[in-house]
Amino acid sequence: MDSNPALVSRIDQLRRKRNALILAHNYEIGEVQAIADHVGDSLQLARIAAEDEDAEMILFCGVHFMAETAVILRPERPVHMPDPNAGCPLANMVSSRQLAEVRAEHPDAAVVSYVNTSAEIKTHSDICCTSANAVAVVQSIPEDREVLFLPDRNLGDWVRRQIGRQNMVIWNGFCPTHNRILERHVKEARAERPGAPVVVHPECRPEVRDLADEIASTGGMVRFCAESPAREFIIGTEIGMLERLRRDNPGKSFWPVTELADCPNMKLTTLEKVLWELEDLEHRVVLPDEVVDKAREPIERMVEILGN
Ligand code: SF4
Repeated sequence: MDSNPALVSRIDQLRRKRNALILAHNYEIGEVQAIADHVGDSLQLARIAAEDEDAEMILFCGVHFMAETAVILRPERPVHMPDPNAGCPLANMVSSRQLAEVRAEHPDAAVVSYVNTSAEIKTHSDICCTSANAVAVVQSIPEDREVLFLPDRNLGDWVRRQIGRQNMVIWNGFCPTHNRILERHVKEARAERPGAPVVVHPECRPEVRDLADEIASTGGMVRFCAESPAREFIIGTEIGMLERLRRDNPGKSFWPVTELADCPNMKLTTLEKVLWELEDLEHRVVLPDEVVDKAREPIERMVEILGN
């Protein structure tokens, strides 16, 4: 999508001048996805940020915890955001004080933190996960050790159901965007497009997941929709995902379960802000050295564990 050729051309000049790698999450608006070097889920983007050897800076089009993760993995390379106000309400649902209180009740539990947490919370974690590898990460914890899973209750419940693990304490957080997808939305969407597979994210409510044909991370959705013989799909996740799926599968149709699944934080990044950041370099994401050092280990463990 090249909605403003002059703007895109100026971004191209500046990204070359700065030797900048532009990363965009699958939930970003289509025109931002279109100018990115890589579009992906949190795990894919974390791996690219860790492994790329050439770029002199990263411009991260996503939300704050994603840019922090890129800083932690390669602290010597500047990471910038087009809009530093792009946060994640789910990540804000756990504070260090709250975590310390719960840990005091479960002192031997392994703390498994979804990547949607602040860098500070990651420093108190044994291992991080994304929705792509959450099941494998929890399975990597010895079966007789309790798991404290945070902060997303829906993802935690999905993992618990997948592997039948009883010794999991699950934090009571949720993604407001995915929580807006309701059972009745799935039923209405199915009635409108009978035969189209319903594919939803594990951050959705359990009763929504129960109605789905496939439950997958955004990276998993990309693969499922590419490989499926179906010609149209009903997608239950943040609606920016449909831009990615439509671009990858021009011969197929994609419909949201509901247009209400619209994350305002993901929509803060625009092409204009991408350009301004490449011009002014005003919004570098900086973390204290001790936070970077302590948070690196749980993130590196996460990056090593394969997703699906
Ligand atoms: Fe956070 Fe949900 Fe928005 Fe993702 S979609 S950034 S989890 S609020």
